[in-house]
Amino acid sequence: MLEKDFVTTDVLIIGSGIAGLRASLAAKKYNISVLITTKGWGASPFITAINAPLGHSDERDSPEVYYQDTLRGGVYLNNKQLVKVLASQAIPSIRELETLGMEFDKENGRYAQRLVSGGTYPRAIHKKDRAGSEIVDLLGKEAKRQKIRILSPVMIVRIAKKGGKIIGAFGLDIKNGRFLIINAKAIILATGGIGRLYEFTTYPNDITGQGVALAYRVGAELVDMEFIQFEPTAILHPKQCYGMLIPTAMFGDGGKLVNEDGERFMLNSKYGSETKAQKHELALVIAKEVREGRGTKHGGVYFNASTIANKTMETYPFHFQKLLSAGFDLRRDSVEVGPAAHSSIGGVKIDEGCRTNIKGLFAGGEIVGGVHGANRIAGNGATEAIVFGKIAGESAGEYAIENSLQKISKDEILFEEEHLRKMIDTADSNRLTPSTVRSKLQKEVSRAGGLVRSAKTLERGIDKVEQIKEKRAKLLKATNMRELIQCLEIDSMLMLAEAILKTALIRCESRGAHYRDDFPFLDDKRWLKNVLVKRRGDGSMGILACNIS
Ligand SMILES: Cc1cc2nc3c(=O)[nH]c(=O)nc-3n(C[C@H](O)[C@H](O)[C@H](O)COP(=O)(O)OP(=O)(O)OC[C@H]3O[C@@H](n4cnc5c(N)ncnc54)[C@H](O)[C@@H]3O)c2cc1C
Repeated sequence: MLEKDFVTTDVLIIGSGIAGLRASLAAKKYNISVLITTKGWGASPFITAINAPLGHSDERDSPEVYYQDTLRGGVYLNNKQLVKVLASQAIPSIRELETLGMEFDKENGRYAQRLVSGGTYPRAIHKKDRAGSEIVDLLGKEAKRQKIRILSPVMIVRIAKKGGKIIGAFGLDIKNGRFLIINAKAIILATGGIGRLYEFTTYPNDITGQGVALAYRVGAELVDMEFIQFEPTAILHPKQCYGMLIPTAMFGDGGKLVNEDGERFMLNSKYGSETKAQKHELALVIAKEVREGRGTKHGGVYFNASTIANKTMETYPFHFQKLLSAGFDLRRDSVEVGPAAHSSIGGVKIDEGCRTNIKGLFAGGEIVGGVHGANRIAGNGATEAIVFGKIAGESAGEYAIENSLQKISKDEILFEEEHLRKMIDTADSNRLTPSTVRSKLQKEVSRAGGLVRSAKTLERGIDKVEQIKEKRAKLLKATNMRELIQCLEIDSMLMLAEAILKTALIRCESRGAHYRDDFPFLDDKRWLKNVLVKRRGDGSMGILACNIS
């Protein structure tokens, strides 16, 4: 059996992306103990564009225009209170990063801003194409300087609650193979998106949507789970860069999409050009080109950057160099791209203080739902993580001061140990390995809940997921720590798959990132609504459409 370690903290933060790190600094201001646990670095280091309505590249931009763009991009399903917070706090949050030493690219003393999908004006600030990794680095250093403890790699596997309040969590110390019992007054979920639930994704390995499942299982409400953003231009070829995305900001700089017949098809689409379509619209047009036989050898279309000025290309050194080392010179060669699962738009339901419906449980960053409505405009994932990470930290800090610590009981510890023990098995040569089960699940979710959905594919997908779920006890067997981690991730992925497919089936319309080919039109009359997901008392999944919050 696993050896135990007991840890106590005022605030436990799950995740060390921008949201988690920013939350840790905000919580620490309350002079309390703060602990971060993390599996990896998440998606934050890949960020290139961050929305900040400073109006430096175009004076007409403002927080009000940004607010309107976010609502329009979200096809008016957004939680308006959350969008107000996002729009009003974007600039102050960026300034705070600068006081920590972040330097964004500037021209003549003013911020250089890129026009990205969904923005009326150039709004996205950047640091070449590596802003995310610099911010993570900076926040991480500051957290260390403030002696905030970071346990890594540690995976949180369950949250504990008593009398309706959070009392701590259980985790696995992946490197040392130990079972962690963490007593905490408050928990902040900052576990990011769900990318790895899908076969082809731009997201890194540690992003499997586990935080959403942790929240759901402890009774938190979820919202807008049916909306998954598909990045239109993930690389299909060269294979060394498979899954890496071409920033859509490159279209604003002159990049083009071309089909196998050499046609610049976006010009003939209803949008008129690459820059005028939102990400999901671009993805749907690309999918249509492929479906109608004008796709490339690897099942996508060509991205051509030969008209981007050399000086501008120098602002994308990471992408340029990665492709160059695979033998592709972006100034000359076209790469094959296609839609891949990208950001999670829905997630844990919060209020303006990042509070969930469970006392002591807070959430910030990509894990939350409501900010983006039905579609996330480009550059808003980063701003969301910075703004709501800080707020989650402040709210959790305040809460921790006002509440006392309660210990997780021996019975609960035994229960969780038993749950893990059941997954650990001696090798059975006939068993399916967790990797095989995971691939099977990813395939079913991608088929059913991909870019284009229909009642037929969704119903089939729900059945397939149910079949895997029924065999869960037999299938989720691990012979070592790596497999145990995979089994626990699959267990969460099953819950997520059910939520995404069932909510997508209920929404009989097409809106933003959710496209149904059996209901291809927007239906404001019936569907200007959010879909909520909540665990029922009997353990089954409750799904309810309700008026926008
Ligand atoms: C390739 C790529 C490019 C992108 N580019 C942009 C961009 O230019 N602009 C933009 O706005 N957005 C972009 N996004 C989206 C953006 O990266 C995310 O919205 C944002 O980083 C989310 O930050 P976060 O802190 O919420 O989550 P993440 O940065 O994803 O961090 C999540 C953390 O939680 C940890 N974790 C997860 N589960 C557990 C668990 N059970 N136990 C312990 N730890 C756990 C992970 O290891 C990780 O540390 C991009 C995403 C990708 C993948």
